[in-house]
Amino acid sequence: MTHSRRSFLKTGVAATGVVFLPYVVGAAAHAGNEFATDSGTVSVNAIAHASMVLLTPIGTIHVDPVGEAAQYADFPKPDLIILTHHHGDHFNVDTLNGLVAEGTKLITNAEVYKQLPEDLKARASQMINGDSGEFNGMSIEAIPAYNTTEDKLKFHPAGRDNGYVLGIDGLRVYVSGDTEDIPEMRALKDIDVAFVCMNLPFTMDVEAAASAVSEFKPKYVYPYHYRGRDGGMQDPEAFAKLLNEAVQVKMGGWYS
Ligand SMILES: [Zn+2]
Repeated sequence: MTHSRRSFLKTGVAATGVVFLPYVVGAAAHAGNEFATDSGTVSVNAIAHASMVLLTPIGTIHVDPVGEAAQYADFPKPDLIILTHHHGDHFNVDTLNGLVAEGTKLITNAEVYKQLPEDLKARASQMINGDSGEFNGMSIEAIPAYNTTEDKLKFHPAGRDNGYVLGIDGLRVYVSGDTEDIPEMRALKDIDVAFVCMNLPFTMDVEAAASAVSEFKPKYVYPYHYRGRDGGMQDPEAFAKLLNEAVQVKMGGWYS
């Protein structure tokens, strides 16, 4: 891994002009975020806001990677990158170009697929709401992600964006993407680890998020994507308090 990582780092520094800060500084904060599967562990590594790296027995999965290459430098190259939608806090072509390695595949919603340059498109498969597929023995389902309140419909109209449920060797992981507390989320079954967005004006507040989560009852939930605009930041501690231990809340270092 070191050889490819070194060359990746050089690329990252050259491309961005920023000084590389060792990832180990943040690594300690990510400890303890491991979940057992039938064949090993899945470790959750929060990168920022909506971006994360999952180290799994079936490979390294990046979710909505954006930002500087250096933020990803201490992780193996992705085997799979999943993208929920095309907004800038979820999708960045420069980041993707810095991350992809030989064999890296992408799974995207249809809009991202349309916006991919040809070389990335050649690695990609698109999924629309309700589709299910498979990657290296992992099941993947595209779950709807959309706004339901009148003044927010413009952000994420129904039918366009994806959340995902990944089935990794018996562990079911839900990534919400950007959505409100839609019926399709409330109807999810047997989720072990959920990542649920909450911010305003773009998605939902902590009350709506906690209400939905208490209905589909994952074993663990990570509040993520909780900074918003115009005072729309949601407090993950308030979210945890609302759940009142009905679901175990995990905190990721999304903004540290
Ligand atoms: Zn977003």
